Amino acid sequence: MDLRGLDLAYVLHSYERTYINFERGENGRLFDDKGRDYIDFTSGIGVVSVGHGNRRLAQAICDQAHKIIHISNLFLIEPQARLAQRLVELSGFDMRLFFANSGAEANEGAIKIARKYGEIDGEVKRYKIITLEHSFHGRTITALKATGQEAMHTYFGPYPDGFVYAKSIEAIPELIDQRTVGVMIELIQGEGGVEPLDPGGVRELAQELRRQDVLLIVDEVQTGVYRTGHFLASNYYDIEPDIITLAKGLGGGVPIGAIMTRLKEIFKPGDHGSTFGGNYLSTRAALEVVAILHEYHSSGLLQQRIQLFEERLHELQRRHSHLFIQSVGIGFMRGLRVESDQIQKEILQRALDERLLLLKAGRNTIRLLPPLTITPEEIEEGFARFERAIEGL
Ligand SMILES: *Cc1c(COP(=O)(O)O)cnc(C)c1O
Repeated sequence: MDLRGLDLAYVLHSYERTYINFERGENGRLFDDKGRDYIDFTSGIGVVSVGHGNRRLAQAICDQAHKIIHISNLFLIEPQARLAQRLVELSGFDMRLFFANSGAEANEGAIKIARKYGEIDGEVKRYKIITLEHSFHGRTITALKATGQEAMHTYFGPYPDGFVYAKSIEAIPELIDQRTVGVMIELIQGEGGVEPLDPGGVRELAQELRRQDVLLIVDEVQTGVYRTGHFLASNYYDIEPDIITLAKGLGGGVPIGAIMTRLKEIFKPGDHGSTFGGNYLSTRAALEVVAILHEYHSSGLLQQRIQLFEERLHELQRRHSHLFIQSVGIGFMRGLRVESDQIQKEILQRALDERLLLLKAGRNTIRLLPPLTITPEEIEEGFARFERAIEGL
């Protein structure tokens, strides 16, 4: 059986899969089994932040694998402690961390922290969490229920109670009642359609929540670790959340999630745990990713690359404004709005034919999440292919 046949026969069909067999990558380029090159404006959905085949990351993983991969959280884990310290330093927040393996799992942990806070603080038990419509918080049962897209709640019930959806951040305060313990938001909605929230509105909301002792949980699974050009989107929005979750870009492709919280004493031994979370391999990898990106950010290079990408994107949008209604997003988290899901689909297919990888988001957004280390040459080549792909559309 060929590989496609194997996949179809033995793997559950939960994805609309494109059958390209990638064999290796070099930063913003991928190569398939026929030696053809692809420009990657997806970075594995915002994961491969330091590019494909990154030598420094590969070396760190390799060195660590030769020593210890995993020993469990019953023992001290040196790279875990160092990574926690580093993430706290870079965030500028006075927090502690818990390490998980994915975004959904980090969000589950964040919800547990909020629920525990709601048990121990105040007279009545508080458990409700307000999230936004069009949000995305993950695929586990609870994270799925936290996700404010009713279309995703068709099966799999009964779901846990206690999630309330707000149409906008302005609508959140009026939904708060005596049972509300938290608000969970993405500062830039990712899967929902690359939708940045208004910074002024977010700061006002943060103040209001602090006044009412309602926790602000910011899901930075997609926006975190320099995706926006800043270490956290929370830094860019100039807010200090109570809980922040990270995942996608943190490990450069090695699965890792993290919960950061200023509620440093919330968990007692036994309250939460993970067999794999925070092991030697994933935390050593994340330490290297963070080191690479910190240098890259400090040198001003990240900002230069973002600027070039932004210029090319705006030029493309202006030249084809009949196709791209609007250019949206911040840093290396970008989108182009189109009229319909048919156009969205058509553009993705044509780009693929030109060997340019793009993502969709929501029903009418083309999403671009390049590796943060993408080179000027890769950017130019990617946009040249993009231009060819939409010729005549
Ligand atoms: C991708 C994503 C998740 C889910 O992360 P997984 O690692 O797939 O569980 C959660 N929240 C946001 C904002 C995301 O973009």
